[in-house]
Amino acid sequence: MNFADSDVLSAILSPRYEPTSDYKQADLILVNTCSIRDHAEQRVLNRLREFTALKKRRSGLYVGVVGCMAERMKDELLEEALQIDLVVGPDAYRQIPVLLDQLSTGGGKGMDVNLSTEETYHDIVPLRATENKVSAFVSIMRGCQNFCAYCVVPYTRGAERSRPFDSIIDEARALFEQGYREVTLLGQNVNSYHYQDVGFARLMASVAEIDPRLRVRFATSHPKDLSDELLATMAAYPNICRAIHLPVQSGSDTMLKRMNRKYTRDHYLQRVAAIRAALPDVSLSTDLIAGFCGETEAEHQDTLSLMREVEFDSAFMFKYSDRPGTFAHRHYQDDISEEVKTARLNEIIALQTELSLKCNQKYVGRTMEVLVEGLSEKRGKQYIGRNTQNKVVLFEPTGAEIKPGTYVQVNVKRCSAVTLLGDLV
Ligand code: SF4
Repeated sequence: MNFADSDVLSAILSPRYEPTSDYKQADLILVNTCSIRDHAEQRVLNRLREFTALKKRRSGLYVGVVGCMAERMKDELLEEALQIDLVVGPDAYRQIPVLLDQLSTGGGKGMDVNLSTEETYHDIVPLRATENKVSAFVSIMRGCQNFCAYCVVPYTRGAERSRPFDSIIDEARALFEQGYREVTLLGQNVNSYHYQDVGFARLMASVAEIDPRLRVRFATSHPKDLSDELLATMAAYPNICRAIHLPVQSGSDTMLKRMNRKYTRDHYLQRVAAIRAALPDVSLSTDLIAGFCGETEAEHQDTLSLMREVEFDSAFMFKYSDRPGTFAHRHYQDDISEEVKTARLNEIIALQTELSLKCNQKYVGRTMEVLVEGLSEKRGKQYIGRNTQNKVVLFEPTGAEIKPGTYVQVNVKRCSAVTLLGDLV
């Protein structure tokens, strides 16, 4: 979401500013922030100290904080020690030029952290400075009102709202015409997309119909809302990618209830069975939290057993981080010691590494379509791309140059837990 929002911000600022790759030359630095974990916020504060030092050497430099941390901390961020000029929440980006005028005419620091029930930036064409020109994020909705007990998003991004259907189709079509070959439809809970009489399944079908050469992905699904209609739509369009990110967070019913996730372990497993029945070649990824408030060893073991049962292809795995303002912060004790959280997280990571390797081994010997993104930065001369399951595929160049955005066939020869390695067919 932050990558997508940064591109919206670039578009809003484009009449006055152009992006630079060297922040030391910048006249304006906006730090787009995430509040999901304390660690993310600490990293932002460290960067802001760096920019404050730069400000002392560069007169005329403005520094702003935008996004979730701006929304959560508000005027705390305007403390003199940090020398922040602008604090702007996720729904107030259109106000930034006005606040910059205020700054440059001596009107003082600017803050707008108003949340909206309507803002989707639907009419702003993002200036895509951060992408590889092959795959693009397309934001389809904003906000969330699921109020999971641990999560700060409903407080920092406001109520859920869907972007007008036509503006999404126009943006996706324009991207295809510019040469992009993959779009990821983005929202905190895409399955509840609803604009007038269009739901998420119809939106997916309409984007897929733009061109069979345009791959379509989406993130993120909530297990309570993943519908059979969506699975049928995915099965009907080969260019809708065979990858579903379905955050489970815990394998324990008591824990899921405390987290206010609104589904049970059994419901989750039934959804996984329905996904695999509709899309036998799908890859499944998830999010897992270790050491949420009151987590017992038995509840932790339930998470491990669910992981074994589902055999996720990959997972984002974190220690629970207490976030001010959330239900958990107000009503539960963050009572699992750092040591236990770390030990449980390490067990989760070790198991997932094993499962990821097992999943990837199934691809060895198979030939698959790969959308080429370019030459791998880490691997020097190897090409990097992804298959429909969103697995990273590496292969050696043979002869003529392959342009980013080309589809090729690759035969997989070996794998690690995170990558498939093969030869061009
Ligand atoms: S669904 Fe839950 S975890 Fe996801 S953004 Fe909404 S409140 Fe946060």
